[in-house]
Amino acid sequence: TIVVTGATGHFGRHAVENLLSRGVPADQIVAVGRSIEKIQDLADRGVRVQYASYDEPESLRKAFAGAGKLLFVSASEPGKRIPQHRNVVDAAKDAGVGLIVYTSAPHADSSGMILATEHLATEQALAASGIPSVILRNGWYLENYDLRGALEHGLVGAAGDGRLSLATRADLAEAAAAAVLADSHDKQVYELGGEGVTLAELAAEVSRQSGREVTYTDLPQDKYVEFLVGVGVPEGFAAVLADSDHHAASGALYTGPEDLAHLLGRPATPLADAVRAQLA
Ligand code: NDP
Repeated sequence: TIVVTGATGHFGRHAVENLLSRGVPADQIVAVGRSIEKIQDLADRGVRVQYASYDEPESLRKAFAGAGKLLFVSASEPGKRIPQHRNVVDAAKDAGVGLIVYTSAPHADSSGMILATEHLATEQALAASGIPSVILRNGWYLENYDLRGALEHGLVGAAGDGRLSLATRADLAEAAAAAVLADSHDKQVYELGGEGVTLAELAAEVSRQSGREVTYTDLPQDKYVEFLVGVGVPEGFAAVLADSDHHAASGALYTGPEDLAHLLGRPATPLADAVRAQLA
């Protein structure tokens, strides 16, 4: 069977849907998360739905029993993920999982972003486990930007003129499903992203499509933290996001489009199309 963690979230759900559309029988997929009421519809379609928490090793061991492959979607609370992810790797080892596909962060081994630290530790734990693994260093989701909100307030960030390889979450999840199903891989680490754009260019594309003037305001990193806190982002997370933007200014979130197109077997969704879909 193929186990998908984080299946109750946006990315994992897309990945499960994609495995189904690629012909994997529903009963060969185990969709795992905590809020499993969110995926009752998948259970209704025959997918095996299983509660597990990254904080509860026993629940993971139970969920992974008999798994051939694991799509390990990274957890969502920065600061907690090293022990959580170690629990996942240990449980996969105990269960004899044959392949782990893990969602990491761009250039996790060299970027210097705070966010990359936990991903690098996880990549290292995977390597140490001896379990065959494929690392998908997912670039920034286009969905991280509230483009409809930008129609009213513009875009704000601290990424300067840095180019970010933005991709839709759906494309990245489709690539993950493809990576799980591939017979072999010519790379062990993929750097996944779409076209490279600056945030000013993203704002300009929103302007072009909407006919409204949408500007990008670039702030110093500390002012961007204040801005994020002001719109309700918890302080610790605001600092992590601003740190990512700061590094993006010098290319930390640029990957090039090649690896994503390779896994998809087609070019990634063009930015203009993805923006149009989000504004619709
Ligand atoms: P979501 O927040 O929609 O989903 C996160 C998933 O992780 C949920 O299924 C959640 O399960 C699960 N999860 C979190 N903590 C635990 C835990 N302790 N035990 C078990 N499951 C847990 O995020 P997305 O689907 O959009 O993104 C997937 C991952 O990608 C994120 O978790 C994060 O690591 C990363 N990410 C990447 C971004 C990028 O731009 N590349 C942006 C944002 C996140 P439940 O809700 O059932 O608890």
